[in-house]
Amino acid sequence: MTASLDQAREILRRTFGHAEFRGRQAEVITEILEGRSAMAVLPTGGGKSLCYQIPSLMRPGLGLVVSPLIALMTDQVAGLVQSGVSAARLDSNIEPRERMETWARIEAGTLDLLYVSPEGLMQPSMLERLSRTPLALIAIDEAHCVSQWGHDFRPEYRMLGRVAELFPTVPRLAVTATADARTREDIRTELRLKDAAEFVASFARPELALQAERKRGAGHKRVLELVEARPDRSGVIYAGSRDGVDKLAEALRGFGVPALAYHAGLDKTVRAERLEKFLEADAAVMVATIAFGMGVDKPDVRYVIHADPPASIEAYWQEIGRAGRDGEPAEGITLYGAADMAWAFRRLDGRDVDEEVKSVQGRKVRQLYAMLDGVTCRAAAVRRYFGEEGVAPCGQCDICLGAVATVDATQSAQKALSAVHRLGGRFGRGRLIEHLLGKTKDPSSFEAGLSTFGVGQELSAAGWRDLLDQLLFDGLLKEDPNDGRPLIGLGEAAEVRLVYRGERKVALRQGLEEKEARKPRRKVREDRIMPAQDQPVFEALRAWRRDEAARQHLPPYVIFHDRTLAEIAVARPSGLSDLAAISGVGEGKLARYGEAVMDVLRQQAG
Ligand code: ADP
Ligand code: ZN
Repeated sequence: MTASLDQAREILRRTFGHAEFRGRQAEVITEILEGRSAMAVLPTGGGKSLCYQIPSLMRPGLGLVVSPLIALMTDQVAGLVQSGVSAARLDSNIEPRERMETWARIEAGTLDLLYVSPEGLMQPSMLERLSRTPLALIAIDEAHCVSQWGHDFRPEYRMLGRVAELFPTVPRLAVTATADARTREDIRTELRLKDAAEFVASFARPELALQAERKRGAGHKRVLELVEARPDRSGVIYAGSRDGVDKLAEALRGFGVPALAYHAGLDKTVRAERLEKFLEADAAVMVATIAFGMGVDKPDVRYVIHADPPASIEAYWQEIGRAGRDGEPAEGITLYGAADMAWAFRRLDGRDVDEEVKSVQGRKVRQLYAMLDGVTCRAAAVRRYFGEEGVAPCGQCDICLGAVATVDATQSAQKALSAVHRLGGRFGRGRLIEHLLGKTKDPSSFEAGLSTFGVGQELSAAGWRDLLDQLLFDGLLKEDPNDGRPLIGLGEAAEVRLVYRGERKVALRQGLEEKEARKPRRKVREDRIMPAQDQPVFEALRAWRRDEAARQHLPPYVIFHDRTLAEIAVARPSGLSDLAAISGVGEGKLARYGEAVMDVLRQQAG
């Protein structure tokens, strides 16, 4: 039997309250409904979960969803139950009694969706019981975890390949938000999806305004400025180390910002408490290592700041992608420096992995910094990195808005490269700059006699520092750590030659610090501005939601997203049938909350 897409759309409307499929959802769902396996690569917030939830409701049998994190499963199951879907999870946190009840529902055929962890699924007893259960599909969420090329490798995901043989007639769906061509290949191989159709959506995140700037000095001052310019909004701030997280959170609290710290060094219960606090707050700032990540599906995060840069472009997109999941405008701001890049290479060198893996990861580091320090649209650079073609500039990142002016610095770059060459890579940054400016104290006759001595009068010491950093980011120079007293040597020889010959130009980023770039420059889209008269209604609806969420011990967004409340505030539905037409209001939620919402509206009107 081929179930129809019309029926799927009916479920989308009635159960989930959305009018139309987005992006490639309809294609993925059709593929699964026809009983074929598939792989879907959709950006964060792209609506991956509906791709397996809807077919699970339509096909006979249980929809099995493999998910790497309990937090992810908890949120999804809570959201489904709110929408009136029969869903449950089985993981190590579930009490025996609930476990038994869930199995009873599975055996009675009344459960539509079951969420499990990969190791939970592969337990013999689980597999044995499932072998007697008709399955609608098997979805593997965050499928990139199977790849060692990716950034979230989880060895237990590798076992999932066996599912193909154990359940040969059940369609499988691998979904992920981040997978370059290589990771996709890995997913296919490891999860035995060789012949599966692949649906790759655009990686565009039009709601995200991106910005990146070089670190100036070490302190927390810049992060504080950025946070203070964004009051009453939820944000995530990533720092590179546990210690860095603790110190930054403390510094922010010192300035009255209610910042929470989160990293793997904290006690499990402390972490769970803080996560819950963050999820349930209307405005909260979480300072964290990347231990805080997957599974944080808070839709109203308005900014992500990298106080230290991410590890790769994949990691960047995924981490920045935690902002603006509700589709409302949000920001991604990254602070980075040459020292961070040097540190990334050093750490990679120390890792005990194949040379091939090392060289792939080294290239990823290089590509990340080229994007951060580059002078082309950031969103476009990332999308091209993911293999998209014909990408237009986003029009809202710092580069597109002209915050980063450049000047041609090819001649100065030639001087710097040639100085490094003549000095034989034996000097660090400071000495090299002194040499270029001719300011070396008591220079040896060898140094004073070099043609590069004092040739660099066109730039200040700070200007040279910027240029040297840029040449490092571009791979034209490279840094030898030399036990903490780094020396600068020449980078990729072929590229260096192109610069000498003037065939490769070097554009220097200019005057970042004086620029307006320091202020948040959100261009709020016209259609997103709520008319002033609707604001009080919106606030009243949020207050009602806050109480309702507290009563049920749920995060507020599980009840309704901000976006849905905003739409209600503006549309002022006059009755339940009008309310049902708002995106995000399905039948389950209408029955549950319709009257309460109408009450709030009536009170506001009276
Ligand atoms: P992700 O791909 O990041 O897992 P989700 O499945 O969590 O994304 O969906 C992100 C948000 O988009 C959710 O709030 C979901 O309700 C909403 N959404 C998904 N599909 C649609 C659609 N077709 N129309 C409107 N909203 C949708
Ligand atoms: Zn742009």
